[in-house]
Amino acid sequence: MLDVRETHDNFTISSSNESYKVQLAVGAHGKRSILDKKLNRAFMTAAQRESNNYVGIKYHIKAHLPENLIGLHLFKNGYCGISKVDGTDRFCLYYLTLASNLKNSGCIENMEKEILSKNNYLKEYLKYEWFYDQPLVISQIRFERKKPIEDGVFMLGDTAGLIVPLCGNGMSMALKAAHEFHNLSKQF
Ligand SMILES: Cc1cc2nc3c(=O)[nH]c(=O)nc-3n(C[C@H](O)[C@H](O)[C@H](O)COP(=O)(O)OP(=O)(O)OC[C@H]3O[C@@H](n4cnc5c(N)ncnc54)[C@H](O)[C@@H]3O)c2cc1C
Repeated sequence: MLDVRETHDNFTISSSNESYKVQLAVGAHGKRSILDKKLNRAFMTAAQRESNNYVGIKYHIKAHLPENLIGLHLFKNGYCGISKVDGTDRFCLYYLTLASNLKNSGCIENMEKEILSKNNYLKEYLKYEWFYDQPLVISQIRFERKKPIEDGVFMLGDTAGLIVPLCGNGMSMALKAAHEFHNLSKQF
């Protein structure tokens, strides 16, 4: 676990094993982390609206589908993407939905049966065998403004802000921000 403390001219970054003094500190810890709590960031304590609280669920599946297929499918209060994972025999099936869908259905299995499977494509994809015992689940995904600099710490990627689904490429935005910051840091 990392911790960040600002003093006059530098920061102390502490992990469980080591401590570093640095002139520049960058936050690249994703959409939500204990570090956000430690930095007292406003979005961590903001009132939670049902309409802005999502969960993401991911499977790797053994699908018999064309290698060049990239699919996007809609269902009530969510969407699901499917594409081949390069260099493997698996497909990635990943969906984002309002957390209220999951709450109302009681569990992932019911939600998939009652809501996602109303889309005939998804009904078929959800029948394929998975590679893991459990899907990967990410909760408390919220799309809201965040401050890009907090207590002198520069935020990159999802730590600086999320964009709404289907509007951009989060991974390349995070990489680009890191690259730009690297160039900028040479001026310090
Ligand atoms: C459901 C869903 C679907 C998506 N689909 C796409 C897509 O198709 N294409 C796309 O481009 N983007 C997609 N994204 C967005 C994309 O995943 C992110 O925008 C991108 O991963 C952001 O990169 P990042 O480096 O900022 O954060 P992350 O990739 O989240 O990396 C942050 C890292 O920091 C680590 N960390 C957190 N806290 C600490 C701590 N205290 N100490 C040490 N390490 C810590 C985490 O473990 C993690 O490894 C999707 C996101 C979701 C939720």
